[in-house]
Amino acid sequence: MTILTPNSPTAELQALDAAHHMHPFTQGVELAEKGARIITRADGCWLTDSDGNRILDGMAGLWCVNIGYGRTELADAAHRQMLDLPFYNTFFQTSHVPALNLAAKLAELAPVDLNHVFFAGSGSEANDTNLRMVRTYWQEKGQPERQVIISRWNAYHGSSVGSGSLGGMKGMHAQGGMPIPGIHHIDQPHWWAEGGYSTPEAFGLERAQALETAILEIGPEKVAAFIAEPVQGAGGVIIPPDTYWPEIQRIVDKYDILLIADEVICGFGRTGNWFGSETFGIKPDIMTVAKGLSSGYQPIGASIVSDKVASVIGNTEFNHGYTYSGHPVACAVALENLRILEEEGIVERVRNETAPYLKERFESLADHPLVGEVKIVGMMGSLALTPDKATRAAFAADAGTAGFICRERCFANNLIMRHVGDRMVISPPLVISKEEIDTLVTRARLSLDEALERLQ
Ligand code: PLP
Repeated sequence: MTILTPNSPTAELQALDAAHHMHPFTQGVELAEKGARIITRADGCWLTDSDGNRILDGMAGLWCVNIGYGRTELADAAHRQMLDLPFYNTFFQTSHVPALNLAAKLAELAPVDLNHVFFAGSGSEANDTNLRMVRTYWQEKGQPERQVIISRWNAYHGSSVGSGSLGGMKGMHAQGGMPIPGIHHIDQPHWWAEGGYSTPEAFGLERAQALETAILEIGPEKVAAFIAEPVQGAGGVIIPPDTYWPEIQRIVDKYDILLIADEVICGFGRTGNWFGSETFGIKPDIMTVAKGLSSGYQPIGASIVSDKVASVIGNTEFNHGYTYSGHPVACAVALENLRILEEEGIVERVRNETAPYLKERFESLADHPLVGEVKIVGMMGSLALTPDKATRAAFAADAGTAGFICRERCFANNLIMRHVGDRMVISPPLVISKEEIDTLVTRARLSLDEALERLQ
């Protein structure tokens, strides 16, 4: 067969793609009809497609390319590591230099007593690890009945059976026998969509207290852990009211329930601090990380585990692990990525300069007739599209219609924004400049105008 190249004609690339490549979260029939957009190159915050269009990536790939595209240092780190030791496992008392260095670096960066790292190949795998780890923890503590994990509707924790069950995406649960037993979901702190009957502060407290209600219903002696993203990302960048996280922390402390902060999106600078847990004052027992850990240059995830949990897990043989747990090339690339984030002061620049600028510019979209709510923290934000700002109405008929149209207009205007139903979300590379932020907001407004025209 002919191997196509990035310079092959778009139609040929699309035809071969549609014939053999099954895409995640994509309708095959629609893909065959329309053809995929084929991305061929990238640098900084910009993608190039097979037609030569230059597209501003407002999503950092899939919330992950924190240091931007095209950093040769990461390619060099991968190259060096492949020559030295392309693979070895970390099972059965073996280790290697990239894994031990990266674990130590993560222990240094992570808050307080999170000092131990279990590697995985992705965020989904890391959350599967967490699921088994918290249950094993309570088993080892002599409380084997503590098995239930509480999560939230509209959370996203991954796509494997375990992590998809932890997540609260009903569309995912409808396929393939999820959720597995022992997972309980409570309502999310989504004030705009579900809380308009009270103030955001009162609603935040109410939704946090739903955790206490669930614990009491299930029985505190049966609850192992609560898992949540500091900010729900894939659910639509739902930033909880200020009252939410302090109340959650009070409740998990009161009932001695382990807290898993899923930092797969929030970690490594996305919210303006190294971790979302710092931004929201959360004290997790375990943090899930992936994505920004390697800026997406290599697939890698991890559970960063507290002294308290690790000391108990260490008492037994934890019968769990992946061939690629601590893959040397992925670890070497992640280490180089963290070096760049740290040495170039990228997180500090986000916090002090570019995130405040993005906030000001992004919030200027609030006056657009289609935009009901603008939410943003650090480098992640969302716009709620509505036909009626005053009542916070949702679009009738097919949910997501307005969002879908708006996303298509963004594509046409060479901007990547994602839609989650009728919420438009952004999560650009952390290295985005002020000038690029201006371009992002200008193109977003143009796309909103064009979407409005099409909706009328
Ligand atoms: N957790 C969160 C919060 C995520 O956003 C994601 C992916 O988007 C995952 C877990 C799953 O990570 P992965 O796709 O690497 O398996």
